[in-house]
Order: sequence, then C-alpha cells, then structure tokens
Amino acid sequence: MDNVRFNPRLADIVPYDPKYLPAEHMISANESPYNVPDEIRYEVRKRLKRLDYNRYPDPLANELRDIIADANGLERENVLVGNGGDELLFNTALAFGGPGRTFLNCPPTFSVYEANAELTGTAVVNIPRLPNYRIDEMAVLTRVAKGDIDFIILTSPNNPTGQLVSDTFIRHLLESTDALVMVDEAYGEFSRATCRPLLQGHKNLVILRTFSKAFSCAGVRLGYLLGDAEVISEYLKVRQPYSVDAVSQLIGCTVYENRQLFAPAITSIIMQREHLMEELEATEGVHVYPSDANFILLQMERADEAWEKLYEQGVLVRDFSHTPMLEDCLRVSVGTEKDNKALVKGLRKIMRERRRESAEIVE
Ligand SMILES: *Cc1c(COP(=O)(O)O)cnc(C)c1O
Repeated sequence: MDNVRFNPRLADIVPYDPKYLPAEHMISANESPYNVPDEIRYEVRKRLKRLDYNRYPDPLANELRDIIADANGLERENVLVGNGGDELLFNTALAFGGPGRTFLNCPPTFSVYEANAELTGTAVVNIPRLPNYRIDEMAVLTRVAKGDIDFIILTSPNNPTGQLVSDTFIRHLLESTDALVMVDEAYGEFSRATCRPLLQGHKNLVILRTFSKAFSCAGVRLGYLLGDAEVISEYLKVRQPYSVDAVSQLIGCTVYENRQLFAPAITSIIMQREHLMEELEATEGVHVYPSDANFILLQMERADEAWEKLYEQGVLVRDFSHTPMLEDCLRVSVGTEKDNKALVKGLRKIMRERRRESAEIVE
C-alpha cells in the first residue's frame, strides 16, 4: 500500500521543537550551567555497579517517593515520580482532561500545557496575563465561577516571563473551585517560594517539581508531584507503568539524598541573575522583566534579528518573538559568569551597530 490512514486530528499539530543548536554559550533551555557535583556522580557510579539490568524497575519508584515524601513532611501516597515533569503534565491532561473536559490556561506560559490539551481533545480556556505578565486574578476567578473548569495550571515562577503567583491568590482560587489546580514549581528553588503549606486542607492542589533545573539533571528525566493521595491515585490509572527506568531512579535517590550539595550553585545562580539583570537594564534598547527564576525575559526591537547575531557570536538564547504576547521577546537563561558576560557583550555590540546604522541613515 502506498497510503496510510493518517489521523486527521494530528493534521495541524506541529511537533515540539526546543530549537536546540550547538553553541559555546548554551543559555536557551533554562538548564543549570553546572553538572551534578562530583561526589554525587561518584556515588552514582558505585551504586550502578550493583544494578540488575535484567530486572524491571520498581514501577512507582517507591524508594525515591519515600525520600521525597520524607523531605516534604508527606507520605509516599502523596508523591508521584515521572519521566520528567513533562510526563506528569501529559498525565495531568490524560487524567483530568479529555473530550468534554476543560483546561484553564494563563498565556503566555509553558506551551506544553496547551499542546497536551490539544492532543487529549481537552477544551482550552485562555485567560491572558496582564501587560506586566501578572495573572489576571479577577478574570480567572470570574471564569472559574461559571463552574465548568476541570483543571488549571499556574506556573510559579512563570516560564518564560519569570513572575511568581501570589500565595493569597492561589489560596483564594483553591477555595473557590473544585477544579484541580496544579502549581508548576519547576523553578521554585530559584524563587525560594513554594505553596506546599497549602496542600494541607486543599485536596484540589497538586504541585509539580523537576530535577531538570536546580538539580542539574535535565539529561536524566525526572519530575515529581506532591498532592492528595486520592488525586495521586487518579494519575496511577493513566501512567505508563515503567516510565521511570532503574538508572533514573538510582540517580534520583542519590541526588535527592544529597540535595544540600546543590545549595551553593542555586545561591550563585540567584546572585548571577541579579547581576545580569542590572547589566541588561544598563543596555540601551533592552527592556528587562523582573524574574524569580533562573532566566530573564528581554524585549527589544527586531529580537529575531538579534537572536541571529547572538548566535553568530556563540550565544544561544530562546527566541519567543513569534509567540503571541511575546512579540520582540528573547528569553535568556542565567549561565556561568562567562556565559552571562558573552551575552551582555553580544547585546551591546548589536545595539552599537544599530546606532551606527541609524546614524548613517540620518547622514
Ligand atoms: C522545565 C519545565 C518543566 C519540567 O521539565 P522536565 O525536564 O520535563 O522535568 C515543567 N514546567 C516548566 C514550566 C518548565 O519550564
């Protein structure tokens, strides 16, 4: 047969493309610029020697669940580990979305949420953020009051814009709806804020975290949820039984047990963020949005052209200039001091060239 029965539902879907290209300064994906500390990598190698490659992994990664539960003052039943936060986001759409169900989204935000809704046939209600990218709290509460929203995702700090969600708002929202409210704290370690205390007394709250950012493990694929035991049980119905492999479980346990070793890197990234913010603000023609994460959103004229010029100088950033509500925006991750310097130098060079060009036109 020279034909296939393609699924018309997929006709308009574009595969996710992180636009990851090799570069000297990789500051496009919000990864940690630092590898996992040597001590941890040494311990992982030791533990790997005893791994039974022939056996299936523990389907629920219970050892890791227990370590995470213990650190968060919760029980194993309140924790679920996934193949990256992304898998848990997909499982959220499978378990709480689907045909006839509705997801409330606050764009601009992580594009994966809406993509998952589309894939699972979930209706999407978008409540756009305000011009400063804060959540339009009144509009969300008003929309939720209609009673037809099944799940909501709030990102705190938000990717790619950098703002925290207010605790008061989350509490208010949790108390005014029975929709599942996920707070995505993928960057929580850089804001030092969490809504974890709200788990007590709010069955409809679930918190998402990842090993990919502050814990330097983007290459490993581990994320986890904290939530009510009954909510976690719903996720168990839709998840792939062996999605978290034995090597990832072993690495996850070693990393989480030794997580205090990441504290210096987190502190340094926060300090570098503040410094980079000042340097960018001092760059003519660049508008900077405040950030509580390990990245900064910038706005400038002809951002897509600036992206090209930065790349030519070995600096890979993320171009959002063609995303609605992010016109002329680039997102830069906080990297090493060297990465940050290369970025600022690159941007200032671009701006100098632009000033020269416009001066020539005037002549
Ligand atoms: C990075 C990220 C995640 C999780 O990513 P994984 O690598 O799949 O764990 C989740 N939410 C947001 C907003 C992110 O930026």
